[in-house]
Amino acid sequence: MSEEKITIPEIIRVGDLADKLSVPVADVITELMKNGVMATINENIDFETAEIIADILGFEITKETDEGPKKKEVKTDGKNLKPRPPIVAVLGHVDHGKTSLLDKIRETDVAGGESGGITQHIGAYQVECCGKKKVTFLDTPGHEAFEKMREHGAKVTDISILIVAADDGVKPQTEEAIKHIKNAGSKMVVAVNKIDKPGADPTRVRQELMSKGVTPQEWGGDIEFVDISAKSGEGVEKLLETIIALSEVMELRADPNGDAQGVVVESNMEPGKGPVASILIQNGTLHIGDHLQAGETFGTVKSMEDEHKNKVEKATPASAVKISGLKAVPEVAQLVQGFASEKEARVEAEKTKKYGVVKKLQNVKKIDAESLSADIEKSLKSELGVVVKADVVGSLEAIKESLTKLNNKYVTIKFVGEGVGEVSESDIAMAELSDKVIIAFKSKVTPSIKQAAKNRGVKLVSYDVIYELISDVRELMAELMPVERIETVIGHLKVLALFKVSPKKTVVGGKVEEGKAEKGSWARLKRKGEVLGEYEVSAVQKNMDEIQAAKAGEECGISFAEKVKIEVGDVLEFYTVSEKKKEM
Ligand code: GDP
Repeated sequence: MSEEKITIPEIIRVGDLADKLSVPVADVITELMKNGVMATINENIDFETAEIIADILGFEITKETDEGPKKKEVKTDGKNLKPRPPIVAVLGHVDHGKTSLLDKIRETDVAGGESGGITQHIGAYQVECCGKKKVTFLDTPGHEAFEKMREHGAKVTDISILIVAADDGVKPQTEEAIKHIKNAGSKMVVAVNKIDKPGADPTRVRQELMSKGVTPQEWGGDIEFVDISAKSGEGVEKLLETIIALSEVMELRADPNGDAQGVVVESNMEPGKGPVASILIQNGTLHIGDHLQAGETFGTVKSMEDEHKNKVEKATPASAVKISGLKAVPEVAQLVQGFASEKEARVEAEKTKKYGVVKKLQNVKKIDAESLSADIEKSLKSELGVVVKADVVGSLEAIKESLTKLNNKYVTIKFVGEGVGEVSESDIAMAELSDKVIIAFKSKVTPSIKQAAKNRGVKLVSYDVIYELISDVRELMAELMPVERIETVIGHLKVLALFKVSPKKTVVGGKVEEGKAEKGSWARLKRKGEVLGEYEVSAVQKNMDEIQAAKAGEECGISFAEKVKIEVGDVLEFYTVSEKKKEM
């Protein structure tokens, strides 16, 4: 055993382990293989596996101790706490009116109206209502983003509006939304929408929701319901008042002093500006020139704009601003923190990145009995390699998540390239290395890129509607599904006589008892119920004439493509074989 002590992280690449041990990578791979782990140089193994391999190779290793990134505590007490506006999200089934409601609310905004309304989408905006009270609305794309924020540990939303169309009632995504809201621990208000429509039945919506555990206050529960029409605006003011009243009871407070803390609600690459991100401030105040960590990246705030495209110098709790100055585009829902220096921000970003990588590694290989069979199964699997581009990080993540849900036992999707912004030459190059598919969601595609893709045989498809995108990818994956062999029994024959027509060839004489005996089909030879072999039928004869098939009740002669050991009294079961792709 070597004296040398080597430290390695929780998860390590096979190649890196070989480097750390200063042994040829082939040795590591061989030892892994002997232990049932089929891993390539670029694959990752966990610490326990690395320890076993290192031990075999004569090294002792220890685990790196690294506590990972720390989130500064959001101050929730102290004398500096000041009331802040509530942060509100709208969730519900598709087409039940989320967008219409948010649009209507923007229209009713007094302050926004004066300054020309909201001129840019930055993922969140504030409106003033009910006597100059402010409310911040999250304007992010749907449930995925909501859930992502929760995953990243950001409790962002104070109040969630569950929107349900009164003419449609509770639908699958309504139930999903209820789950998200409960998981996120935010307060719920139900907006029963489309009450202007002829088929609207707000009472039925209440009944349906009650059966899902969401009981209206007026029926003895604790959830406020407001009937609205996002189209005419009826009830929208009352909904806002309900939210304000609820938020006042919640006594929402934040400390506007000190380094800013918040969360990324939108991000993309902007020509001329570089990476930009919309940040919803939760605590502290963000100023131009502040040093920030935003998830896995960092930087110093160069410019700040609000949702009216006004340049601003600072942003206080519950407001959102679009900033530039980060080194890279951060992921939506990542946490943002201010630091005294850019160096500190960088260190924190690097830690987050390192931890992010470990968390994202799903394909960690380990020594265990199951891994060998899993490897065999994996080798039977097909992969569809695609490049995905989207307009903003939020959509990119939502698309990837939805596409990953199409994965099944046989076909999985692999993102060989991804990014936000316009489709580029390098996307084409990436696509060329895999299945030559680029999926662009609301991303710009210049005519020259389109032509280049065409010339190089890369399928480049643009989408505006996520469902169409998913349905097309599903089709591509369906093409990769394995072929299934389908056997259909077509008839049975009882062997009555054997005619030796040459030293090598015997014609089997018999009577078709049911179905048919057909040329080109297969025959299973059975004796007393036991299967003795399967043979291809090369000819069927009747009275010395070759025929295609003999029917039930007919006597015929059967020839096989090869020599068959058969006896009088045996049974032949005829069957055909067809091939069909497995369904997704
Ligand atoms: P989302 O998918 O939840 O964002 O739903 P949208 O806001 O896009 O609305 C879906 C459809 O319902 C659109 O055609 C809207 O015009 C319509 N809609 C939304 N709210 C109302 C409403 O209160 N009354 C009526 N009549 N139509 C509505």
